Amino acid sequence: MTDSKQPGRLHVIVAGAGMGGLTLAASLLRKGFDVDVYEQSPELREVGAGLWISANGGRVLEAIGLKEAVEAINLPPQDRVVRFWKTGEQRSVYNRDADASKANHTLIQVLRAELQRVLYEAVVKLKPDAVHFGVRSTGARTAGGRAQLMLEDGSFVEGDVVVGCDGAHSRVRQSLFGPAPARYTGANAWRGLAPMGKLKPQHRAPLASTWIGPTAHVTTYPVQRNGEEFVSFSAQVDSPTWQTESWSERGELADALKDFEGWHQDILDLFIHSENLFRWGLFVRDPLERWSEGRVTLVGDACHSMTPYLGMGVNLTMEDACVLARCLEQSPDDVAAALRRYDTARIERANRTKQKSLEMLSVFHSPALANSETAWPYIEEQWSSQAVRERYDWLLAYDATTVEI
Ligand SMILES: Cc1cc2nc3c(=O)[nH]c(=O)nc-3n(C[C@H](O)[C@H](O)[C@H](O)COP(=O)(O)OP(=O)(O)OC[C@H]3O[C@@H](n4cnc5c(N)ncnc54)[C@H](O)[C@@H]3O)c2cc1C
Repeated sequence: MTDSKQPGRLHVIVAGAGMGGLTLAASLLRKGFDVDVYEQSPELREVGAGLWISANGGRVLEAIGLKEAVEAINLPPQDRVVRFWKTGEQRSVYNRDADASKANHTLIQVLRAELQRVLYEAVVKLKPDAVHFGVRSTGARTAGGRAQLMLEDGSFVEGDVVVGCDGAHSRVRQSLFGPAPARYTGANAWRGLAPMGKLKPQHRAPLASTWIGPTAHVTTYPVQRNGEEFVSFSAQVDSPTWQTESWSERGELADALKDFEGWHQDILDLFIHSENLFRWGLFVRDPLERWSEGRVTLVGDACHSMTPYLGMGVNLTMEDACVLARCLEQSPDDVAAALRRYDTARIERANRTKQKSLEMLSVFHSPALANSETAWPYIEEQWSSQAVRERYDWLLAYDATTVEI
């Protein structure tokens, strides 16, 4: 057992050095807390996927001093469009000219590994030995007025608070609230990363595109690493048979091409030229009514893993981290009260987002999209200025740095 608590400072133990764990660690260290993060992987992993950060997530990154570092890895789109699966014809989603929306629709487009590196560097700048790699946790509990994170070797680490940022299969969540069965949503997902140099020139267009069809949709956007450009894509396909929930399962090109038979060549080219292809099943769990128990709580996919249809998983995770750090700062001497406040501030919004994200599948996939005669009236209706505002403004307008807690 170790407790490296420094006198007078709340010591927070974090399980998982993903997007949530590192954002939380940076937020807490900046507020003067002591933090130790325990990550199962032996090092930061190269996942080979892009991420969309919207304004609500961007505000959190800015608050932890990362505006410039994120700008350096960003390849921002000039527009966001929906595209017809057969021809690639497009419609702007922002409706910029006529848009009465007050929400900020800016997107930050980054490689996941690049964002993780930026977050990691922010953490170790504040505490060089904060992240402990190759340490797998098995659960957490409150004992003797302290919080304990149990480790695979049978030992535990102890602090004032334990936060499970250990993703959708969270062991911390299971130890607090028991198993949470995952239900298959009826869709499989594909993802890949295609080097720009292998693609036709039109792929360079600075667009965040969602190609929509009757039984599948594909989100594509350019990303960069040290000036080298790629197109990141993720695709969801209706499928009665399911893959495992792990999104690091390899997929076969032949299966992808079968799933996207008849689609525009630009989409097929992404699969053909991708450096790697991954395929997994999309699952959902029932929403949780509580995230905290004693001195232990949860952040991110551990408490609200969701379908990717609104592009909000990481954004909500960053909001959680920011709000939790603020709650602990407000009442460092009463951790239980801080965690209750955190639950109250966050659960309803996260569960609503999770539900709305699931409902988007029937917007993206529709029989009306089978041919262009019925597709365009459908697209005009579903992606009208008003529909977009109703769908996104409440998500984008949320400011985790100032929201009442
Ligand atoms: C292909 C894809 C594209 C996506 N695109 C977007 C997007 O554009 N925008 C968006 O907002 N969201 C997106 N998401 C969702 C987003 O990636 C997740 O919501 C986000 O990563 C959640 O962060 P997290 O910290 O909770 O979990 P993760 O980032 O998954 O991190 C969990 C960490 O915990 C570690 N861990 C797990 N178990 C243990 C253990 N027992 N002990 C120790 N460590 C452990 C893992 O190794 C990992 O490092 C996407 C998801 C996928 C799969």
